[in-house]
Amino acid sequence: MRGCGFLQNPGLAGPRWTHASFLADGAGSSLTGGDVNSNDQGTEKKGRGLVFVISAPSGAGKTTLLTKVMQEVPGLRFSVSYTTRSPRSNEQEGKDYHFISPSTFRKMVERNEFLEWAEVLGNRYGTARINVDALESEGVDLILDIDTQGAKKVKEKVDHSVFIFLLPPSPRLLEERLVKRGEDPPETIRFRLANAMKEVSEAPWYHYIIVNEQVEEAVRQLTSIIIAERCRKLKNAILKEKMRQWEEQDGKNYGRRLS
Ligand code: 5GP
Repeated sequence: MRGCGFLQNPGLAGPRWTHASFLADGAGSSLTGGDVNSNDQGTEKKGRGLVFVISAPSGAGKTTLLTKVMQEVPGLRFSVSYTTRSPRSNEQEGKDYHFISPSTFRKMVERNEFLEWAEVLGNRYGTARINVDALESEGVDLILDIDTQGAKKVKEKVDHSVFIFLLPPSPRLLEERLVKRGEDPPETIRFRLANAMKEVSEAPWYHYIIVNEQVEEAVRQLTSIIIAERCRKLKNAILKEKMRQWEEQDGKNYGRRLS
C-alpha cells in the first residue's frame, strides 16, 4: 500500500479510517450514475473525496497511463462518462463509456443529471453527478478523464479537485499514434490534431503537467501526484492523530500548541 506516513499502519486506524480516502481498492459500485445526490447549489463543495481530473489530447496515451495507475494505486475509481459517439473496436459498454443515443443524452441534460457535459469533435460527452461525501465514506478518490471544457466546469463546482494535463511528446508523435490506432479517417485525424492544439492552450491553468515521453515515468509522476495530494488533504488529520498518540504515550497535552 502506498500512502501517507502512519496511516499505512492498520494498528492505528483499523482497516478503513474515515479520513483516509485511499484504503479501499478501485473496484466496487459506481458513484457516478444518475442515482447519486448532488446538485448545482454546491453539494459537491461539501465533500471530501478527491477528484483527479485528467485531460489530454486524443492519442496522448491517457488510457494506457490511467489503466496502469489504477492497477498500481489503491482506492481509485474511474468515472465512466456518457457519450453519444459509437464504441471503438476495443471499447466496452460500462467500462470505457456508457454509449447512449443523442436523444437519451438530451433527456439526461434536461433532467440535470450531469455534473458537466461538452461537445467534443462532434459528439457529446458527460460526467454524471458526483457525491464526494459518499466517495469519502466509501474510501475512494475519483478519476475523471475529460476535456478542458469539462475540466473548467468541474473546477467551478468541485472542491478538492486536482487538475492534471497530459502532454504528448510532440504533435508529430500524436499524429503517428492516431494513424496507428486506425480508428479514424484522415479528415477526423486532422480535426483531432487541430483540437489537440486547442486543448494544449488550456494547459497552463492545470495544477500539473505530465509529458508522456516514457509511459513508466508518466505512471510514476501521476502516482506521485495522487499520493502527494492525499497527504496534503490529510495533513491536519495526521497531525491531530499524532498529537493524540503522543499524549497517550507521554501524558502531556501536545495538541494545545497547535493553532
Ligand atoms: P474519445 O472520443 O477520444 O474517447 O474522447 C474525446 C475527448 O472527450 C477526450 O478529450 C476525453 O477526455 C473527452 N471526454 C471523455 N469523457 C468526457 C466527459 O464526460 N466530459 C467531457 N467534457 N469530456 C469528456
